[in-house]
Amino acid sequence: MPKRRPLRTFDQSNKLKNVFYDLRGPLAVEAERMEADGHAILKLNTGNPAIFGFDAPDVIMRDMIANLPMSQGYSTSKGILPARRAVVTRYEMIDDFPHFDVGDVYLGNGVSELISMTTQALLNDGDEILIPMPDYPLWTAATTLAGGTPVHYVCDEEDGWNPSIEDIRSKVNKNTKAIVVINPNNPTGAVYSRKTLEDIAQVARENGLMILADEIYDRILYDGAQHISMAEVAPDVVTLTFNGLSKAYRVAGYRAGWLVITGPKQLASGFIEGLDLLAGTRLCANVPGQHAIQVALGGRQSIYGLTGEGGRLLKQRNIAYEKLSQIPGVSVVKPMGALYAFPKLDPNVYEIHDDTQLMLDLLRAEKILMVQGTGFNMPDKQHFRVVTLPWASQLENAIERLGNFLASYHQ
Ligand code: PLP
Repeated sequence: MPKRRPLRTFDQSNKLKNVFYDLRGPLAVEAERMEADGHAILKLNTGNPAIFGFDAPDVIMRDMIANLPMSQGYSTSKGILPARRAVVTRYEMIDDFPHFDVGDVYLGNGVSELISMTTQALLNDGDEILIPMPDYPLWTAATTLAGGTPVHYVCDEEDGWNPSIEDIRSKVNKNTKAIVVINPNNPTGAVYSRKTLEDIAQVARENGLMILADEIYDRILYDGAQHISMAEVAPDVVTLTFNGLSKAYRVAGYRAGWLVITGPKQLASGFIEGLDLLAGTRLCANVPGQHAIQVALGGRQSIYGLTGEGGRLLKQRNIAYEKLSQIPGVSVVKPMGALYAFPKLDPNVYEIHDDTQLMLDLLRAEKILMVQGTGFNMPDKQHFRVVTLPWASQLENAIERLGNFLASYHQ
């Protein structure tokens, strides 16, 4: 008999102990189990346009297919030149966006990979990053995994979910290295005013912070809302702007994203070396996906047909807002951008002790999967996120069922 040591078990690394991503967490696993048992589940846990019949523009697919024979090899680490050039041109069309060149553009497997690379390249153990609360939870997870400390700043529901500048100021200290701004916001749907952005830029300026601007929803705007990029109001601050094709071009599966660096880059030369190193160690972003970028960014922007007058996304936003507001004990700030609403359960009507349990009970009773507010690092347990992607009739029906479920809910 060959010698063998006593059976060894394998646990997850300690690095993952405080890392959470509930959008695809235990509730999603339970939904999959229920599906395997034959239940039809309405999955409102991720902003995945394709599964709700939002097809990508044909021309994107045609260009990608045409380029497949040229996509067999690795590309350069930052990505293919025509795609990076298209990113430069995209921002040249925005009057006040600071100048940058193709060398300042990094393509990634979605914004997600670029968020991980950025936090890994930037943070030493104990460095702090200011992150909105509620947040898109990957920012908190990636910061934690990189050894950093996420410090959440308040976005004030009473003030249309605007970031509280006072709260941000009170949380800056000598360990604070950067501030994350998600605009338009997931999960709240808020679109920030120039004044708010300028105030954040001023805090960054005064305290030597890097700005990390996640603007993946910048073309998904309703009722004439205007998007202003953080980089526009902070040309004198090192700013990383993140964006990609997953939402406005409905090709989340192609994993095509970019980040651009603007501002006084000489202050960030060490960080940039680190970013280059990490871009190289992951070799390159998926090359067929990179070929989708140039065609997507040029020409007619089909997203505006969906968000403008009579557009499908606008109609769905309207239904979500109206129907949620009609549920007794539920209030919701009208989303002005993105693909979500973040309603509140009145604590005088519903005293929720465990919002994950609430969402689990909803899943089991109504076969609807939504994500609890604590999944977005919202501590009060009185919130949840609704994805506004389903067809109007499907969304209306889902919110009606949610209302019925809540009416008889006690914890
Ligand atoms: N940032 C925000 C605010 C998001 O909502 C998402 C996806 O939902 C991402 C980043 C990740 O996008 P990608 O598909 O480009 O990785």
